[in-house]
Amino acid sequence: MPLIWNLKSSKTMLSFNSFFPDSVLTFVTDHQIDFSFYEGGLSVEQRSFLKKHAGEYPVINVRQVHGGDVLIVNDDMVAGTFYEADGVLTNKTDVLLCVRTADCLSVFLCDPITKVIGVVHAGWRGTQKNIMGHAVHQMIEVYGASPGHIKAAFGPCICGSCYEVGTEFLDYFPRHTHQKNNKVCFDLVAANESQLTAEGVLTENILKSSVCTFEQTSYFSYRRDGKNTGRILSAIMIKSKP
Ligand SMILES: [Zn+2]
Repeated sequence: MPLIWNLKSSKTMLSFNSFFPDSVLTFVTDHQIDFSFYEGGLSVEQRSFLKKHAGEYPVINVRQVHGGDVLIVNDDMVAGTFYEADGVLTNKTDVLLCVRTADCLSVFLCDPITKVIGVVHAGWRGTQKNIMGHAVHQMIEVYGASPGHIKAAFGPCICGSCYEVGTEFLDYFPRHTHQKNNKVCFDLVAANESQLTAEGVLTENILKSSVCTFEQTSYFSYRRDGKNTGRILSAIMIKSKP
């Protein structure tokens, strides 16, 4: 059930604001802007888009490497410095966490009790490294979160019917692949949901947007548009003020 949030501007974007506590801002950009990663930092266009839609806040900009590492934001981290990671967690207010995707899954995390948030980029490689499990472990160990309180929302990604993969995936993900017309398909959402529930996150606390980037042309899709396609930004922040 995608939830559409009316932004400050007239544009609307996918959001999970009504699923998370009022103090937590979330949004997912679409093809109105390309959020590809640049080594020099955010482009002028990207920066002004964020300022317009979310306000002017420090942005934790990660260089994604399809790994299993989740970054813990500490006081020394300044906006504009890059960290290699595929997920970010914080309990700090007014710091925008984000990941970029084009068919991969973005997962928004929040424990409303300990007030820790995060966002994770989960492609098949990160999923194979159990990045969702690592993210939940870190929420528990670093911030004292409780898996029974953690809420997770899944952003748009390629769906299990569209994601055709090699036969090696039958070994990688035996529970989350199926065969269709002699092709193997991988269900990225189901694989990540099972990593969350394996850590004790409750099924009723997981919200899936059920938006397929391959089918919905309003989102960038690596599989549909090729490697030069743009990137979707999935962002989350704890607001200090309403
Ligand atoms: Zn699909």
